[in-house]
Amino acid sequence: MSSLPVEQISGIYHRKVGDIVVTAISDGYIDGNLDLLRNVDVDQARRVLVDAFRPVRRVSINAFLVRTKGGSVLIDTGTGGSMGATNGWIARNLLAAGVDAKDVGAVLLTHMHPDHSAGLTDTSTGRPKFPNAELVMHEAEPRYWLDDAALARAPNDGARSMFEHSRAQIAPYKGRTRLFSGGEVFPGIVAMPIPGHTPGHTGYLISSDGQQLLIWGDVVHVPEIQVALPDTGTNFDVDFEVARMSRKRVLDQVASDRLLVAGMHLHYPGFYHVARQGEGYVLHAEAWQHAL
Ligand SMILES: [Zn+2]
Repeated sequence: MSSLPVEQISGIYHRKVGDIVVTAISDGYIDGNLDLLRNVDVDQARRVLVDAFRPVRRVSINAFLVRTKGGSVLIDTGTGGSMGATNGWIARNLLAAGVDAKDVGAVLLTHMHPDHSAGLTDTSTGRPKFPNAELVMHEAEPRYWLDDAALARAPNDGARSMFEHSRAQIAPYKGRTRLFSGGEVFPGIVAMPIPGHTPGHTGYLISSDGQQLLIWGDVVHVPEIQVALPDTGTNFDVDFEVARMSRKRVLDQVASDRLLVAGMHLHYPGFYHVARQGEGYVLHAEAWQHAL
């Protein structure tokens, strides 16, 4: 008898949007408790998880490779292995998807938190992991994370380390960083600022041949809870109130427009529709498809 399996196959999943191929690339996940949540009754939040058959709070970490006629674009880069043993798999899974890091023409960031930007650079050598990529993000993002006054206001070591982390990660891309305030940032990819979680937090709307997908970044971190109870935010929201309004606006929009969404913290592979339910919303995972 052959030995029993101990690992999954690589976390890559392709979804066509018109002529564009979007590949969800799993960086892994982080398990934890509900201490990160704010503005929610913790017993109610726990009940939502129990009802969804989730024994723990699991946060998937996804990045998305977008292949267009213009080249290969990676949206976010995962943790780079900086947040425990259950994540940091972007590089491995990118190779499994048939893409060498040196062939990535642009890295688009939703924002500069370490579970999104810490895969940019090997901090032990200071070398960029995407040697030929342009780094593209909203102008408000580096303005905040490079601001020494904002760093001085950080309430604790954890918050301070986010500044240090993000500064080290983008440093090797100096000279090939492009900042935007909105609009089309790559052929077929339109930036949709969703501020609050961070000042320059941005979703990306992929459009081709009449089809659309919104990659919404961190609109939610614990999907079951924050979709059902959208007033729920997290300790990591730089501006809690703006993040709360942004989350409610985006949920309302994608439910009204029946727009397909993908998220960095939606359970892998992360393609969902959002429908109204009660006072909040509910996620419906898109059915898996064996071929494009
Ligand atoms: Zn995140």
